[in-house]
Amino acid sequence: MMDSGRYQEASLRNSSLERSTAHEVAHQWWYNLVGNDQINEPWLDEGITEFATAYYFEKRYGTPGRESYYSRQVDTTIDFIKNNPRHMLDPLPDFTSHGEYFAEVYVSGVLFYEDLRIRIGEDELLEFLRSYLETFKYKNVSLQEFIEFLKGKNYEALDESFYDKWFNH
Ligand SMILES: [Zn+2]
Repeated sequence: MMDSGRYQEASLRNSSLERSTAHEVAHQWWYNLVGNDQINEPWLDEGITEFATAYYFEKRYGTPGRESYYSRQVDTTIDFIKNNPRHMLDPLPDFTSHGEYFAEVYVSGVLFYEDLRIRIGEDELLEFLRSYLETFKYKNVSLQEFIEFLKGKNYEALDESFYDKWFNH
């Protein structure tokens, strides 16, 4: 993961050491503390970890970091996601290439948590993440448990259309 070639890349590049480090460090929480079935439900850890990666660039570099992340990861894949028959909740073996897997499972995670942040607000999102960690650390969480946990928060901003949009496939 931390191949020396990555040291040569500028920080705001997909293949940079900084990007890989941010992503892999976020897995210390999402996958290592809160476990999940990474073959059958890979979105649970990769989606939240990739959101953490985008969030890192936003917090580290401000608006330019956020814009840079979006222009290279999200803007380039959003049409692909819309038109691709695969869904972010599909199991790993259903994906035919790394590009497809990355777009659906990782980038859709960024879009999901961004949508959540827009709806419930940033403070609530961070509180949700803390509470998710506290509740599921040292355990394996399933997608069903994740959805039930989110629904259990009873956020007024999340109606059935939100759950339909993201989890119906
Ligand atoms: Zn990952």
